[in-house]
Amino acid sequence: MLRTASCPAMLAGGSRILRGLRRKQLDYEHAQKRMVPIEQENLSERHPMTTQSSPVLHVNGRSYRWMSGPTVVVCVDGCEYDYITAAVQAGVVPYFQEMITSGTAYVADCVMPSFTNPNNLSIVTGTPPAVHGICGNYFYDPDTGQEVMMNDPTYLRTGTILAAFADAGAKVAVVTAKDKLRTLLGHKLVGVCFSAEKADQASLAENGIANVLELVGLPLPSVYSAELSEFVFAAGVKLMESRRPDLLYLSTTDYIQHKAAPGAATANAFYAMMDTYLARLGALGATIALTADHGMNAKHGPDGQPNVLYLQDMLDSWLGADAARVILPITDPYVVHHGALGSFALAYLPSGTDMAGLVQRLSAVPGIALALTRAEAAKHFELPADRIGDIAVVSERHVVIGTSAARHDLSGLDAPLRSHGGLSEQQVPLLFNRKVTAVDRARHWRNFDAFDLVLNHIG
Ligand code: ZN
Ligand code: ZN
Repeated sequence: MLRTASCPAMLAGGSRILRGLRRKQLDYEHAQKRMVPIEQENLSERHPMTTQSSPVLHVNGRSYRWMSGPTVVVCVDGCEYDYITAAVQAGVVPYFQEMITSGTAYVADCVMPSFTNPNNLSIVTGTPPAVHGICGNYFYDPDTGQEVMMNDPTYLRTGTILAAFADAGAKVAVVTAKDKLRTLLGHKLVGVCFSAEKADQASLAENGIANVLELVGLPLPSVYSAELSEFVFAAGVKLMESRRPDLLYLSTTDYIQHKAAPGAATANAFYAMMDTYLARLGALGATIALTADHGMNAKHGPDGQPNVLYLQDMLDSWLGADAARVILPITDPYVVHHGALGSFALAYLPSGTDMAGLVQRLSAVPGIALALTRAEAAKHFELPADRIGDIAVVSERHVVIGTSAARHDLSGLDAPLRSHGGLSEQQVPLLFNRKVTAVDRARHWRNFDAFDLVLNHIG
């Protein structure tokens, strides 16, 4: 099944990445020493200090200045930087172009695994998964022995910047494409929070807003469509026009990126759509930060068939049937466009397994970029060690990891597979429609620095 061969250059690249991760981890450990979990803070610290000209909120060990005007943070799901570059070259995204030339454009890293939930939660908490606890869309809960979706806020270990600002009196609104993210993003948020997917069901009691379809003026979109993301932007513009939130968080879906490569007509049309709404938000006076939860790459061979490495089948043949339990954290109820195939997997193994030996053996398998023990993965990827299994496996750029061939229904894949989850999808855009000032130019930014930069380093 595997169609992509490993090569020494790629493996060398993997160790370079690992060295980089070690350096970043040290930076993070240094930063963490100054961190105070929000639960331990005096509540009054979460309220703006009025004695200063620029009030400051402390959330999860980081400080955020009160916004000087309406501030919008956008997470474009699956936004490999090349989508923007290609759309700029095609001349269809003048506002993106303006952001890059007259505002600020960085290439940042997302958190690993490069999936939707961990990264959205990192962005809205300003922390890596080791702190907020959301390490996948899906995980094996060792407390209950169940494999479950990671959508429930009970798994969230820290508060969000959004809720902290709302508590301190800011008008906060959140619009997400898929409903799976809504309860996590809206955790303890006193404000507006709804999904495009269930916009018709939004109520004042549950979402802080009713009659959303009427407000937005668009029909309820299909969950598998570009319109689902357009609805998010259209709602954002209508909210900005009608309620003018101080802080607005918009999160789209990567349906288009899973299907179309950068520069493809449908991809350019999708970015052109976003561009018109971003321009309208900008014209309404919003300061905009735009980043992504992860990138996106082709995961198929020249014949269009997916390059899948079936890890459960491999471990079954090495250790015995079902001795290992492979978990794919990309799994969610919306698998049609990726068949639950991504470039990151976890495995729980029987006690007594030689973990170091197994990791070494896996590392030598063509298509695997990196295999790590639990301790290594927790350290290098800043993941919660109690939620990630005994080993973590990352596949190469054009390879995905499955469980068993028999368990994946790929009949819904109507386009050659594109997906994410690995180190190869870690680079994401971090753009602003204004100049970012007074920052360390040598610093390597993460997508979860978006709130820090937009609130503390603009204006
Ligand atoms: Zn995503
Ligand atoms: Zn995706």
